[in-house]
Amino acid sequence: MQSKPDVPYSVYIHIPFCVQRCPYCDFNAYAGLDALFDAYVRALIAEIRWVAVHAPARLRVHTVYFGGGTPSLLPPRAYEALLLALRDAFALAEDVEITLEANPGTLDLARLRTLRALGFNRLSLGMQAVHPDDLRLLGRIHTFPDVIRAVAWARRAGWANVNLDLMYGLPGQPMSRWQATLQWALRLAPEHISAYALTLEHGTPMAAWVARGLVPPIDDDLAADMYEWTMDALAEAGFVQYEISNWARRSTQGQLWASRHNLQYWRSDPYLGLGAGAHGWVAGYRTVNVRSPHAYIARWQQPPSEPPRPFPWTPSLVHMHRPSPTEALGEYMMMRLRLTQEGVSWAEVRRRFGIEPERAFADALTRLHGWGLIEPIPGGIRLSRRGRLLANWVFEAFLPE
Ligand code: SF4
Repeated sequence: MQSKPDVPYSVYIHIPFCVQRCPYCDFNAYAGLDALFDAYVRALIAEIRWVAVHAPARLRVHTVYFGGGTPSLLPPRAYEALLLALRDAFALAEDVEITLEANPGTLDLARLRTLRALGFNRLSLGMQAVHPDDLRLLGRIHTFPDVIRAVAWARRAGWANVNLDLMYGLPGQPMSRWQATLQWALRLAPEHISAYALTLEHGTPMAAWVARGLVPPIDDDLAADMYEWTMDALAEAGFVQYEISNWARRSTQGQLWASRHNLQYWRSDPYLGLGAGAHGWVAGYRTVNVRSPHAYIARWQQPPSEPPRPFPWTPSLVHMHRPSPTEALGEYMMMRLRLTQEGVSWAEVRRRFGIEPERAFADALTRLHGWGLIEPIPGGIRLSRRGRLLANWVFEAFLPE
């Protein structure tokens, strides 16, 4: 696949530490590893420097995202060192977007002030729900008053770009409780809202509770009704749905507060994935780092002096794969269709993949149009409102068999 000419990179940095494990979570996150913080930050800095030394040129970077886990658990001095290493290693754009994912129960005004002064400019708060029963079921360490306080402190500390992460379709959650969550979130006036339906991940305690009848199963029809209600309520509140599960307000200058970092994924533009278990898309390769924080640290304590393979190989990689043109095209269509406004531009597919998409996908397009799952836009297609509810069906039509 041809990447877009001269597109700057994004950098994702995984912080795999949490205060406790939430019962629904299957992310690469661990409780009780506080003793590893310093060694882990040293390993991250080693990885950043390795990439800087071995990349064919100084990489231009326009977004940095610290995700987890609970990145807000690391002390600000860790971020001071990490941001210094990033500025040293890469050409950071003047308007670089630097996001911190934060658990509302781990913040205070002083910490938010320090992080803002270090250069962070986007805060993504894991609010999830309002009702204490929902938060308890999710095993969250915070309360809704913690969220109110965190947003107020963030504003006082000068954070102008705040996202609230929400979850709907929880076991036993009635529509009215989800509506209350969204309405309270709107009262906090965030620039951005992400709302995801809870999925029961295999092997999690919550999946076991449901299987044993201790918790009611997820009601998929109700979750779909919640999603439809959410699209209407957020449109009425002035938010633009720019991705299946993401909405943003416009600034007074008319700029959309979309997550520039996540847009990089959805547009299939390149990103480095640094830290334990992180995934990257670098120089035409999908990369995956070793998952365990202990193993990640160990690999960076004794890196080889000469890389056995060229860039983007690093000592913490466990997987490096160049997708075939068909795989890359399927992935591109799937990611791009998530963008509910932009959709897919045929001109870009032609340029990136050298194919005639309307001919290559003729059957799928006729079928999906017939079912009302996609709609035409000038020079391309996007999901229809119905297609957003059945997006996985649409994606499958473009994936290789
Ligand atoms: S805080 Fe987030 S990453 Fe950590 S266990 Fe809970 S859901 Fe998973």
